[in-house]
This record gives sequence, structure tokens and C-alpha cells, in this order.
Amino acid sequence: MSNIYDKIIFATTNEGKMNEIRMIMKDCNIPIISLKDAGIRADIVEDGATFEENAIIKAKAVMELTGCLTLADDSGLEVDYINKEPGVYSARYMGEDTPYSVKNQSIIDRLKDAKGEQRSARFVCAIAACFPDGKILTTYGTIEGEIGYEERGENGFGYDPILYVPKYQQTTGEMAAEFKNEISHRGIALRKMWEKLKSEI
Ligand code: IMP
Repeated sequence: MSNIYDKIIFATTNEGKMNEIRMIMKDCNIPIISLKDAGIRADIVEDGATFEENAIIKAKAVMELTGCLTLADDSGLEVDYINKEPGVYSARYMGEDTPYSVKNQSIIDRLKDAKGEQRSARFVCAIAACFPDGKILTTYGTIEGEIGYEERGENGFGYDPILYVPKYQQTTGEMAAEFKNEISHRGIALRKMWEKLKSEI
């Protein structure tokens, strides 16, 4: 590692995500700072059609503001039976302020006629790295599962109570946080990104 960068910005204000990335990139000797640490209050319009496009939009916007190597993520739930909805609209589905108990029930209801494999769904995460010279790297991670018939589990957030993961016989809402971080879409995409970044920085 040559240290041509004095810092790396992760374009988030979420401390949970900062902890996760610092843990995964613990061998990185360049400080990784959040938008808040960098003193940036950017209102970035995430109007991409894919998770990858949105991650690139965020990383690029912050790199252009700061001149720093910037990472950004975008994630959400894809449900195959309903054309991969809510997808990039996961946070905005039925309105940002609608409780997840309502959003989750709506998805369960929309799948009332779906059986077995028709209930397949996944959490997806794309990570983008944007370098000051404009170079862009992206990675992708998923947790595969199926939509349950009812909400299960008090852990996690968002759509966690309805993504049942057959491999572990529980929803991501039933998983302990440390375990979910190990197998999560974001963890997978972040580890892949760290592998790619190692040879670049
Ligand atoms: P963000 O891109 O990390 O802000 O995630 C966007 C939205 O996707 C969140 O607001 C949630 O609705 C959904 N989402 C992403 N990851 C997860 C997860 O691990 N569990 C539950 N919901 C998630």
C-alpha cells in the first residue's frame, strides 16, 4: 500500500455502516471517514435505474466535491414475483415514512398466490469506488431467500422480518447482528471491494 491517499470517504451518515466497513477494511492504513466526519451535507439525487448506478452516482458526486477517493453503497430488496420490486425504491416503497410493518404486509399480500420457488427474493448491495482520476470500481453482493408468510424476528430493520433464508432456516430479522453482518449482501460486497482496492491504493 503506497498511501497516495490520505483518507477514504465512505458516502454515508450511518454509523452502523461505518463500523462494518472499518471492521472489514481493518488492514487498511488509510483513515476511512464518513460524510459527517468530512463535513459534507450533500443532497444527492439517487435517480439511477440500478443499485450499481445509484452507488456510482453517490460515490462520484462526493469525489467531485472533495477530490478524495470515495466509496458508496446502495442496497435493497428484490422480489422476483413482483418484477423485482421494491428494488431501488426499497426505502421509498409506499412512502419513506410508512412503517415497515405496513410495507412488509403489503409485500406478503402481493405474494398471496405465489408458492414455493415463486417466492424467491434477495437483499442486494452494490458498492462503488470513485477515484480522483475518474476511475470507477464496483462490486455486488446478495443474500438469497424467499418471502415468508408472516413477519418473523425482532432483530435488524426494514424488510428483515420477511426475508426467510432457507440455508439458515431463519429470517434475517431472526439472525444475531454479528452473524447477519458476516453473511450479508453488504458484507459480501464490501469484502469484494476491499480485495479490489488493495491493489489500487
Ligand atoms: P440503503 O441503500 O442501505 O439505504 O438501503 C435502502 C433500503 O433497502 C433500506 O431503507 C431498506 O428498506 C432496504 N434494505 C437494505 N438492506 C437491508 C437489510 O439488510 N435489511 C432490511 N432492509 C434492507
